[in-house]
Amino acid sequence: MNKLIVGNWKMNGSLAGNESLVRTMLDGLAAAPAPAPHADLALCAPAVYLAQLQGLLKASPIAWGAQDVSAHEQGAYTGEVAAGMLKDFACRYAIVGHSERRQYHGETDDTVATKAQRALAAGVTPIVCVGETLTQRETGQTESVVKRQLAAVIHTVGHCITEIVVAYEPVWAIGTGKTATPEMAQEVHAVLRAQLAAASTHAKRVHILYGGSMNGANAASLLAQPDIDGGLIGGASLKAVDFLQIAAAAR
Ligand code: PEP
Repeated sequence: MNKLIVGNWKMNGSLAGNESLVRTMLDGLAAAPAPAPHADLALCAPAVYLAQLQGLLKASPIAWGAQDVSAHEQGAYTGEVAAGMLKDFACRYAIVGHSERRQYHGETDDTVATKAQRALAAGVTPIVCVGETLTQRETGQTESVVKRQLAAVIHTVGHCITEIVVAYEPVWAIGTGKTATPEMAQEVHAVLRAQLAAASTHAKRVHILYGGSMNGANAASLLAQPDIDGGLIGGASLKAVDFLQIAAAAR
């Protein structure tokens, strides 16, 4: 299974800036001796730029996606974007349950599970984020927190669980420059894999990404772990060289 490297631009970008970033990435891929042979790539942009990404990336090896999706199918939900609308712009992915959404927008495990289900129903792959805070880690709750977050999704989507992507993102490592050691990350990924395996005989098919200050320097050792199937990349996805370095580290 190829590794999956997904950029999360968060609330960054502009029409001109996105175009230049994407073109530099595509030029970099074209110039590489063996362009990211072991990695599938995707970029998740603010919703208003999805049409632009579709135009820039449609004939390229990079897929695109959104950073969130509504828990509702359609209707009176001002400001929200439905999964079917993402599909209209050929989004392959939608991140759901990013810790910034859980923290600043009060998203619960149930909301995140419903969002994952909406995405799946529209043919968009949800990238379900789970992860503990620093306090939770320090009080020995890491395993119970990530299992509870994933259990809500397993409960809601049932046998479709093999169609999702999971991203383990320790909250204390996001945007802080602090990365989980490969061993720490692998330990949690193994827990998540076992939980998926209890829900489906095809759990090995599910990509479990690591996210949290991944960069060109630490990517290879993280991606070498047996249950780390790729990365969800925030800050480093805003720089073409860094993003491509992470993709090249995938083996
Ligand atoms: C993220 O936002 O999902 C993330 C992992 O951010 P960063 O790589 O900047 O820590």
